[in-house]
Amino acid sequence: MTSNDMKLVVVGAAGRMGQTLIRVISETPGVMLHAAIEREGSPFLGKDAGEMAGAGTLGIPVTDDPLNAFLDAEGVLDFTAPQASVNFSVLAAQARIVHVIGTTGCSAEDEARFEAAGRHARVVKSGNMSLGVNLLGVLTEQAARALPSAGWDIEIVEMHHKHKVDAPSGTALLLGEAAAKGRGIDLAAHSIRVRDGHTGPRPDGAIGFATLRGGSVVGDHSVLFAAEGELVTLSHSARDRSIFARGAVAAAVWARGQKPGYYSMLDVLGLS
Ligand code: NAP
Repeated sequence: MTSNDMKLVVVGAAGRMGQTLIRVISETPGVMLHAAIEREGSPFLGKDAGEMAGAGTLGIPVTDDPLNAFLDAEGVLDFTAPQASVNFSVLAAQARIVHVIGTTGCSAEDEARFEAAGRHARVVKSGNMSLGVNLLGVLTEQAARALPSAGWDIEIVEMHHKHKVDAPSGTALLLGEAAAKGRGIDLAAHSIRVRDGHTGPRPDGAIGFATLRGGSVVGDHSVLFAAEGELVTLSHSARDRSIFARGAVAAAVWARGQKPGYYSMLDVLGLS
């Protein structure tokens, strides 16, 4: 640990991603855990954040006081829930620090609030923080541009663990946006997110989504380009949550040197 280490706060510290972030921060040179935040009434308050996450004793107790934690910090890593992330973005903007948001299931209104926070904070938001998925997004956009929409149908299939609460996944939507960009169309106007009963034939130019939930699957995504007599599949399989946590830490370190703004992982990875 050196005095130049970036001081990071993990919010939602007891969650699946929160604990993974604490472990990854403790193993990564150049960053340090400054505070760990959970909601009021959480049974983890007062516990050592490192011991809770299986990273050994770090001497940092879990608290429910983000305001104080953000004051003297340089960045916040946030994989929580939409309303919580909106609230944290206000505090991060006040403190003029980095806010890395991995939370999914956010509404268009929430997104507008994050963008507004980017006037003062350095906000990096992505439905998926892994290098592999962001590369998959770039490849999806290229394939969608290259394969004519007359004759090539796009379907996005995802599977996640049974505890996931939003659907389609943020990553499936990220891939859908990439495909829509490649086709030069608006995703919302062309997506089919659910099919049930007598649906009629598939409309030309649609982007379909299918959602699977079960077990402990960390995150599998495939983009299928289906034509008469041939099928192209681009896919990614996340085996371990640490890929998202390492991406989030890399995003925080990258954003430290940027102007206030609203950035994506494509900016961080130089893929934009
Ligand atoms: P999780 O295990 O449920 O963790 C969420 C944590 O946030 C919980 O500890 C929860 O506490 C806490 N929390 C919720 N509201 C809070 C508040 N107001 N203040 C403080 N803490 C609060 O879920 P997860 O699997 O880690 O996933 C979290 C989010 O990240 C989801 O939206 C998921 O889709 C997303 N995610 C994104 C990526 C990516 O790369 N972008 C990767 C993986 C997951 P309680 O349990 O008390 O509610």
